[in-house]
Amino acid sequence: MKIECPHCNKKGIGYFSKWWSGSATPARCSQCENRSYVSNGSRYYSTPTAINISLITVGVLALLLTQNFYFLLLIPFGYLLSQLYIVFYSPLEKATAKEIGRNKRLGNIFISLLLGAIFLYYLVQIIVSN
Ligand SMILES: [Zn+2]
Repeated sequence: MKIECPHCNKKGIGYFSKWWSGSATPARCSQCENRSYVSNGSRYYSTPTAINISLITVGVLALLLTQNFYFLLLIPFGYLLSQLYIVFYSPLEKATAKEIGRNKRLGNIFISLLLGAIFLYYLVQIIVSN
């Protein structure tokens, strides 16, 4: 069982690949070799986040009203539900080689800046402590 590819409309994309896919790391169709991904828009700024926020709210309110900590289990349940929603309902966007390259470069720049910032932080700590 696989998910329909937006390029060839055949079932060529694995569930895990779709779940894990992003603009820099798209899923590959086993039928046509083209790549596609779930956009940040449909992953974060859409129904999955609404599911998470709803169940966090209900879980916390129920905990406050009943003092029963088991209601906090609604939070991981909501996360699971939101991830299932992504796999089964979020649309796949077509990815082009040019876009993938650009998004990978942006990702690499971001990671480099992050590592640079962590390095600077520790360097300053060492200088300050001496
Ligand atoms: Zn395909």
